[in-house]
Amino acid sequence: MIRKFLRKVFSRKAPASESNAKLKLNLSIIPFKHHGIRRNQITPCALKTATTLQQAGFSAYIVGGAVRDLLLGLTPKDFDVATNATPEQVYKLFRRSRIIGRRFRLVHVMCGAETVEVSTFRGNSPDEENNHASIQQTDQHGRLLHDNVFGSQEEDAVRRDFTVNALFYDPAKEEILDYLNGYEDIKAKKMRIIGDPIQRFREDPVRMLRAVRLASKLDMQIEAETAKPIGDLAPLLQNVPPSRLFDEMLKLLLSGYALACVVELRARGLHHGLLPMLDVILEQPLGERFITIALKNTDARIRQDKTVSPGFLFAILLWHEVLSTWGSLQTAGEKPLPALFKAMDQILAIQHKKLAIPRRFDAIIQEIWAMQPRFEARSGRKPFRLITHPRFRAAYDFMLLRCESGELNMELGEWWKSFLSADNEEREKLLLNQTSPKKRKRKRSRKKSSPSLADSPEDSTQNGEG
Ligand code: ATP
Ligand code: MG
Repeated sequence: MIRKFLRKVFSRKAPASESNAKLKLNLSIIPFKHHGIRRNQITPCALKTATTLQQAGFSAYIVGGAVRDLLLGLTPKDFDVATNATPEQVYKLFRRSRIIGRRFRLVHVMCGAETVEVSTFRGNSPDEENNHASIQQTDQHGRLLHDNVFGSQEEDAVRRDFTVNALFYDPAKEEILDYLNGYEDIKAKKMRIIGDPIQRFREDPVRMLRAVRLASKLDMQIEAETAKPIGDLAPLLQNVPPSRLFDEMLKLLLSGYALACVVELRARGLHHGLLPMLDVILEQPLGERFITIALKNTDARIRQDKTVSPGFLFAILLWHEVLSTWGSLQTAGEKPLPALFKAMDQILAIQHKKLAIPRRFDAIIQEIWAMQPRFEARSGRKPFRLITHPRFRAAYDFMLLRCESGELNMELGEWWKSFLSADNEEREKLLLNQTSPKKRKRKRSRKKSSPSLADSPEDSTQNGEG
């Protein structure tokens, strides 16, 4: 039965029009008195862009995530405008604008520091008469390689991902145009894919990640039919270009709902294709606790509008992979520090291929990791030197997370907290009488020393500090 279903899922290549033809399009126009969104809730730049296009005789609407967020009482991250004007026509109307994108051209309209993205209505259905099918190519799994056809407003609604993302707001009339019942879905807090879920996820597997991220962020349920094929289609994420996966992963991690997203990704089997190492990590209690605490912290920072460095996040996500490779190399007889550096190189090399973590993040990731053994030295001049390192703060926060998760003895973290808050004289008094800390370091087997989730951090002596 399962095999049959899998065969169906992996061999079917429906023409893109098949499910859309079955879609019932039913335009409802929702007036201000129902939806309550005033045009002054749109940023001046987005308003000016839409108004200028309309005054030039084109239709223009605020579309996508911004309309959705406003209806949910959230502040939109950015405003997108959809229009029937071609990119060239848009470009001519705005002095500060530029056409971007090669495959699908968009226009960026700039006012002050704000940029509004203007896209021409896009069609999604290959239209045999016009022979658009040749432009809309898919790979052998049904993934769209081009999405390059201009279309009507209805077609533009249909090619979007979820009904809640397919609403058009007309700022002049303060009306919302809804072809797909997205307004009701927003009220019911349901994320529903537009069209046939299997086909739409095959066209673009990233939509599965978007479903999870948006459902967490918007506190919505993924509607049952939409959710059903996700587990089986998860392997398709492996065909998505790694750079796109990286972008989506970063959006997810920096959404302020990273923990909820990661839990949900895992529950739906999506983490296999996306972050293969999450499998391994989350299956060990220590790894699970480390990531849980770290992502909780990250989410709290983002919600307080504080910055989070992507390098720090990836250092966290990959740390337990490094630890386990580091452990194996030492068991095989390598010395601790060379083993750590080798482990770091190996793990980063794997992730460059899988997730395309851009190399610009390598330096910070490596520095955070490489500084970890240095926290163990608490005698002589070493602690004084360590705190002057430009990346000390990140490495210190990282070390505290290791303590909180139970990987290190909490006493180490407490010592560093005291050391940091002390004046110079007190710092001298805090120094320990460590003989050669390097020689004292124990080789350790990770399996033996991993406490279970139930153990308290204080019980752990994994680092040989206790
Ligand atoms: P947010 O910006 O809050 O992350 P969003 O829905 O606005 O969410 P964007 O990436 O800004 O996401 O996309 C804008 C709109 O473009 C979406 O609302 C949706 O209508 C459409 N869209 C984005 N990605 C896809 C996709 N993979 N497939 C189909 N439509 C998409
Ligand atoms: Mg958006």
